[in-house]
Amino acid sequence: MQITMRFVTIFVILAIVPTLVVIASQTVSAPNKDLALVGGTIYVSPTEEPIRNGVVLISAGKIAAVGTRRQVKIAQSAQLMDCSGRTITAGFWNSHVHFIERKWANARDIPADELGVQLQEMLTRFGVTSVFDTGSDRQNTRTIRDRIEAGEVPGPKIQSTGPILYPKGIADISDAQLQMLGFMKFSSPEINDAAQGHDEATKLLDSGTDGIKLYAVPFFAPTISIPESAIAAATAEAHRRGKLAFAHPTNRQGLLASINNGVDIIVHTTPQSGPWDDTVVNAMRQRQVVLIPTLKLWRYEVRHDRFSVRERFTQTGVGQLRRWVASGGVVLFGTDVGYMSDYDPKEEYVLMGEAGMSFPQILASLTTAPAERFGQSKQLGRVAAGFQADLVVLKGDPSKDIRALSDVQYTLRAGNIIYRASQ
Ligand SMILES: [Zn+2]
Repeated sequence: MQITMRFVTIFVILAIVPTLVVIASQTVSAPNKDLALVGGTIYVSPTEEPIRNGVVLISAGKIAAVGTRRQVKIAQSAQLMDCSGRTITAGFWNSHVHFIERKWANARDIPADELGVQLQEMLTRFGVTSVFDTGSDRQNTRTIRDRIEAGEVPGPKIQSTGPILYPKGIADISDAQLQMLGFMKFSSPEINDAAQGHDEATKLLDSGTDGIKLYAVPFFAPTISIPESAIAAATAEAHRRGKLAFAHPTNRQGLLASINNGVDIIVHTTPQSGPWDDTVVNAMRQRQVVLIPTLKLWRYEVRHDRFSVRERFTQTGVGQLRRWVASGGVVLFGTDVGYMSDYDPKEEYVLMGEAGMSFPQILASLTTAPAERFGQSKQLGRVAAGFQADLVVLKGDPSKDIRALSDVQYTLRAGNIIYRASQ
């Protein structure tokens, strides 16, 4: 039953995608034709009062003007999009995704329409215009990125760490296990000392990755960890080139080993370790790391366990985020989709809210905070004149109900409509 429904859904999406592509190219790509989003509530940034009944004017892929209807003059030749009753924000970042499911394998050979559908399913239908892939086959992900950037397929901006740097022995996984998990086969380096940390980071960065990702401590027992000297050597090489180091911490030991050895971005909370104490939070604050909480992932990871186990595990993660936010720590939105096959971010927004994050704080984790951390805050993350026209038009009002962040009417990247809801 589920398979049938899924097939029907995919068929419907497949059937409408060519139309979407045509609409996007006809309405937006035509030179000298401006696009005006008219009548919506515009959040120019998470911290400023929204503009009600506003206009966003887009020209040549950039935001030309933002203001009230009175303030912004719209040329008669402009294409109008009625956004009354809608909410407009900067395009969203998902700072923790993976292109490792079998569906992405041999990316060069996936028909453009199908690749576009897959990018919609996982990302653009949820307003995502930029992602950081934190672990995948480097060349395959680069192929997806290149096809998007060449204008062949509508999709988000992709940055990637390439394959994860693993502790020794952990990357050994059988073909049968991969088949069950639904993942592609590709090799990942293992590092067990400082020399290997330096050498493998060098190879990855030489190949053009946008950062590195370390799997400090594995999730399952028997745990072996990357030695601290190897973490330090790998992060030092990334920093020497102006690149960032991400780490999967798993527990308190992995968290402290990561932040004490130069890691910039912690890609999960650590429910395995119990609540975070002052030592952990102060160390994280001192090192100015940023946190991607991935709270929905915890329910997903223990989905086969008893209800009480699932709730306790997830609530530990929620408590850790609460602690981090209360201390003034920076959060980047990320869900681990692509590893997690349930792509809907709604539950993540709800759990972030439970952790005490307000709508403006969650919006910052989706827009200004990642733009800032990834060095793109002069082009992305705000709805402001001169910025790239990466925008989300939401059907409802997320300041009243945070779940509205996942109900998207249009997603635009550089002024092109890359997703349009069917109703
Ligand atoms: Zn991940």
